[in-house]
Amino acid sequence: METGILYLCATPIGNLDDMTFRAVKILKEVDVIAAEDTRHTRKLLTHFDIHTPLVRYDEFSKVQSGEKILALLREGKNIACVSDAGLPAISDPGADLVKLAVGSGITVCPIPGANAALSALICSALDTTKFTFAGFLPKTAKNRRDILTELSTRTETLIFYEAPHRLKKTLTEMLEVFGNRPAVLARELTKVHEEFLRGNLADLAENLNETLGEYVIIVDGKKNFDESETAEISTENFIDAYKKFIAQGIDKKTAIREVAKKFNLSRREVYNAVIDI
Ligand code: SAM
Repeated sequence: METGILYLCATPIGNLDDMTFRAVKILKEVDVIAAEDTRHTRKLLTHFDIHTPLVRYDEFSKVQSGEKILALLREGKNIACVSDAGLPAISDPGADLVKLAVGSGITVCPIPGANAALSALICSALDTTKFTFAGFLPKTAKNRRDILTELSTRTETLIFYEAPHRLKKTLTEMLEVFGNRPAVLARELTKVHEEFLRGNLADLAENLNETLGEYVIIVDGKKNFDESETAEISTENFIDAYKKFIAQGIDKKTAIREVAKKFNLSRREVYNAVIDI
């Protein structure tokens, strides 16, 4: 008996016109659609007059549901996996379904379309030739700090997803670990209130008032940042840079570390110079 195909089907990240013809066709043709949130997906299906049965596949149901979906695929049924928005398997449980299917020899087939990370990147005006998609940072403070520290030496553009209620805190943490790099907030992509907030991490963290909607954070890589900053700042005014960090509410230890990094000095040199401030 031939096994079925698992289609990974992109859906819009806001604007329904971003649904592709092929996605509609596949969603109509498959036997079952596996969706992260069946109520949410039902609205999309109704809009496109699609009547295919839905099964839930989310973070909470993925173990049980994954086995059921696998059994259907083995019986020869074709299944489409969709997430709440964008590409399934990008920062959502679809990734586990793909592993399960591939591990069982099932064919997986991409149905490409909208994606928040790449839509934000292409409008960022930052380097698009090399980038790292870092997705959501972990929730615990130590793990977040560890990941940011690891990313802080990367020279390519960095892309993050973040929930709106954590946005300000995350930008402040990035400022502490990365220093004040150029950054872009891409808000509500493809929706009525789409906007791009451009500047550096300090401006963005300070001026962020309303945090409604969905955001992608794009941060310049280290190399670009160092080149632009060293052109402007000489090693003589690192005390000013230290004062700026302190004025932004950054603790002394982090400020010393960041200034040392930025001016290529040892932490001891910076410490000795700023100890009386
Ligand atoms: N699978 C999706 C994709 O391909 O982009 C991403 C899903 S992830 C669970 C949700 C996150 O993506 C949000 O917290 C936000 O960071 C980002 N996102 C999704 N839609 C967005 C939009 N319209 N504008 C800005 N960011 C968006």
